[in-house]
Amino acid sequence: MPAGLHPRTHLSKESIFSRMSRLAQQFGAVNLGQGFPSNPPPAFLLEAARRAIGVVDQYTPPIGLPRLREALAEDLQVAPENVVVTAGATEALHALAEALYGPGDEVVMFEPYFDVYIPQARLAGATPVLVPMRLEDRWQVDLSALEAAITPRTKAILLNSPYNPTGSIFSHEDLERIVALARQHDLWIVSDEVYDELYFEEAPTPLRQLAPERTFTVGSAGKRLEATGYRVGWIVTPPALAPLVAGMRQWSSFCSAAPLQAAVAEALPVARREGFYSALRSSYRSRRDLLARGLEGMGIQVFLPQGTYFLTAKFPGIEAETLVREARVAIIPGAAFYADHPAPEGLFRLAFCKKPDEIELALERLERYISVKR
Ligand code: GLN
Repeated sequence: MPAGLHPRTHLSKESIFSRMSRLAQQFGAVNLGQGFPSNPPPAFLLEAARRAIGVVDQYTPPIGLPRLREALAEDLQVAPENVVVTAGATEALHALAEALYGPGDEVVMFEPYFDVYIPQARLAGATPVLVPMRLEDRWQVDLSALEAAITPRTKAILLNSPYNPTGSIFSHEDLERIVALARQHDLWIVSDEVYDELYFEEAPTPLRQLAPERTFTVGSAGKRLEATGYRVGWIVTPPALAPLVAGMRQWSSFCSAAPLQAAVAEALPVARREGFYSALRSSYRSRRDLLARGLEGMGIQVFLPQGTYFLTAKFPGIEAETLVREARVAIIPGAAFYADHPAPEGLFRLAFCKKPDEIELALERLERYISVKR
């Protein structure tokens, strides 16, 4: 490491998602690694964004463009004064880490975990405590292990539902038990719900409905509206805390891109009114099934997701970086989501937010590669 930088720059390592996208480009691979859609965002969002440039061009308040806070409040059925707009969900989670915990505190989360959770906890000086999910014929949450992980130093429980990478959705009963634990130990709950509209069975329960006094909900226009590069995310806070959280993010990005906030404000009610999310769900369901059936046809064990656009599967004897070079298919190794425990043998995450012909091409390439290897 070059002299002069703080030792915390060991966290500056390229993320697995960026790395696999870079390798995918380099080797002409189909990218089922990083979760970004290959479809363009809906026309109603693109048109709203084009209209906003030249009109809404200067800073917004750090707490967000008022009309976007209103639109979010309407969509999420919450009070506008409890909404903070952020530069993507990543900044939302970072602002919450800064606002909620610090040195000496512990943050309990599940493993496998989405990659930003651990570095963000560490940057805030806190210690991440990982509770392993069990993988048998499906992903299972172990709530007694969660309870056992809580200590007098625990400050918050960090949850993700629908869950990246497992695709699982916490049941209403699981959430009630988690809320009971949080109340008993007086903990904050950070509920990463960026895939809230991406479910294939029952709609997930928003955690804030069960514990509005202690839940911070994180959401994402990038995920909902297929525009991950717009960097418009949000937080719904417990009452009276939004100005404090917004006050923390004023020291990083200050505000999210103003015209894109305006565009999302316009697009959210259109998406709801025109059934955009249910169309998205059925399109993702058929792509999920296309990928799952193709993999199962090759004898690969698939863990069908209940939500998100990710699927986990077991490919014993495969190595992600060899695969991207030799088969020209990029997928994410399960180990990327594990820090404390070994990843299940042969586990990978595949993104199906890609066009059906890309999924088909990836399946053809995988099949050829696997049959040669066997
Ligand atoms: N959320 C996306 C994924 O899991 C992308 C993450 C990222 O690159 N920041 O693939």
